[in-house]
Amino acid sequence: MNRIILSVDMDMFFAAVEIRDNPELKGKPLIIGALPHERGVVSTCSYEARKYGVRSAMSIKEAYRLCPQGIYMHPNMKKYKEASDAVHGIWAAYTDLIEYVSLDEGFMDITGSAHLFGAGSSGGGAEKIANEIKKRTKSETGLTCSVGIGYSIMSAKLASEELKPDGLFSIPNPESLISLIIRFRKFVLQNIVFFDIIYLNLRSRPLRIYHLVSSSFGSTFGSKHDFGSNEKLKTQQPHGFSAMKC
Ligand SMILES: [Mg+2]
Repeated sequence: MNRIILSVDMDMFFAAVEIRDNPELKGKPLIIGALPHERGVVSTCSYEARKYGVRSAMSIKEAYRLCPQGIYMHPNMKKYKEASDAVHGIWAAYTDLIEYVSLDEGFMDITGSAHLFGAGSSGGGAEKIANEIKKRTKSETGLTCSVGIGYSIMSAKLASEELKPDGLFSIPNPESLISLIIRFRKFVLQNIVFFDIIYLNLRSRPLRIYHLVSSSFGSTFGSKHDFGSNEKLKTQQPHGFSAMKC
């Protein structure tokens, strides 16, 4: 049986939280990181800022050169952490096997739980979970996310990148990955190294599970399904504030 992995990635997370809390920022080139006269890098920026060539991890000086009309802000990590906790809490309702990549991004292995939420091996359960996550994220946090369904971590990641923002895309097996590569050859060549796809998919590594956020999943379904060693789940790992690419 193929594994079913979801890649969930919040859309322009830090900027989206600021826009949610101050709608006047909507539609404007917003750059989170530092003020123009300060040293620092871009943590994240709105899609309007990206049109000017501004990117995550770029120096603020370079961002200002490209987009002097942008709105520059310091990050408010407390606020982003709160939003992240709410989002992680939603994910935990669907599986205990979660790899947290950063505050706004993670992989969920729902191989053992997808059937509880919809049709069997056809993937219907995965799509239902993906749609529920998107809907709940919007209604409970006011933010949008992109979800990719894959048979490995890398295929799920490629799927979540495919229709960003607010997208849902599925690469359920290697055949669909190959057809995607053929259809969107240009995209693939521009954005990822071909060797990495092949290598990572062959390797198809398991998720690295660092910690468990208050999982309602465990209490609801835990007795029915064995998700492997719980010792790993208890290992606490602080949130990755250094991983600020959103
Ligand atoms: Mg993101």
